[in-house]
Amino acid sequence: MIRIFSSPYILTPRQDLNAASAGAARRGSLLKVEWGDGLRGFADLHPWPELGDLPLKTQLAQLTKGQLTPLGQQSLSLARRDAELRQAQKNIFDVGVPVVNNFLLSDLRVLNSDLLKTIKSDGFSTVKVKVGRDVFLETQAIRLIAEAGLRLRLDFNAVGSLNSYQKFMGGLSPEVRDRIEYVEDPFPFEFSSWNEARHFAPLALDHQYDKVPWASLSSLPFDVLVVKPAKVDVVKALELCQQWQLKATVTSNMDHPVGIMHALGLGMELKKKHGNMILEAGCLTHHLYQSDSFAAELSTQGPCLRKVRGTGVGFDELLEALPWQILNID
Ligand code: MG
Repeated sequence: MIRIFSSPYILTPRQDLNAASAGAARRGSLLKVEWGDGLRGFADLHPWPELGDLPLKTQLAQLTKGQLTPLGQQSLSLARRDAELRQAQKNIFDVGVPVVNNFLLSDLRVLNSDLLKTIKSDGFSTVKVKVGRDVFLETQAIRLIAEAGLRLRLDFNAVGSLNSYQKFMGGLSPEVRDRIEYVEDPFPFEFSSWNEARHFAPLALDHQYDKVPWASLSSLPFDVLVVKPAKVDVVKALELCQQWQLKATVTSNMDHPVGIMHALGLGMELKKKHGNMILEAGCLTHHLYQSDSFAAELSTQGPCLRKVRGTGVGFDELLEALPWQILNID
């Protein structure tokens, strides 16, 4: 017996978020899940239809029918993890080790030398840049970041082609390219073109797990797996990393603070278990949106998030006070 309640929310971006999405308001839903054994936990459900997820309405309708989408499945599994921690009176910070995050720069127009100085003095070593919108602006920004001595992660969100990628990367000097830790989803996955693209910089796979014919390959044309606990089964993703000797980057789904803390919690636990296999995380995403009562609970110390108050993923009083609507499971 399981009872699921939903509480919809809206996140308002401060700026455009990536190549696939402009600055429109984002809708998601928090979930409260109660199990027959008395445990109760919370999770986020935040689809990105622009990146191939089913829309929120469909996700919730499927949950109501007891049919689990990949996101729905993960939300329930994360809610269960939260429930077990709450029952044990533990916080996510009690079961992992601290992880450092990259600095996410989604709007390059705000970049200048003062901002770069602040990023460095705050203790960040890596800047993640969402690219694929404005080659001139992006190339300039990447050069500035590299010259400041910071490492880079680029994310194309699979927009573009091998040809446009070669032009983009060919426009960067070898010294600048050396500062690139990896490039995420440079264009739609295809083995031989990714193998070509790999000559410029190491590659990372994020939104395209299902496009990789894992069983029929003897080698992979990428080095890093982006693991979003909101979207993928973390245990299976880490098995892939071990099997193929990939590194893993745990990131939020650029979702609600509840989703962010779930991703961070898993990132901290995996770091404790797997050490160097786990690279810097990408969970500092709450500042992309206008603040609300949940985001106000989050505080950072340089590239790390501080322990959030409460049990499980935190936000105890805020979650209790939300209006919840039961999803009738047929
Ligand atoms: Mg990505």
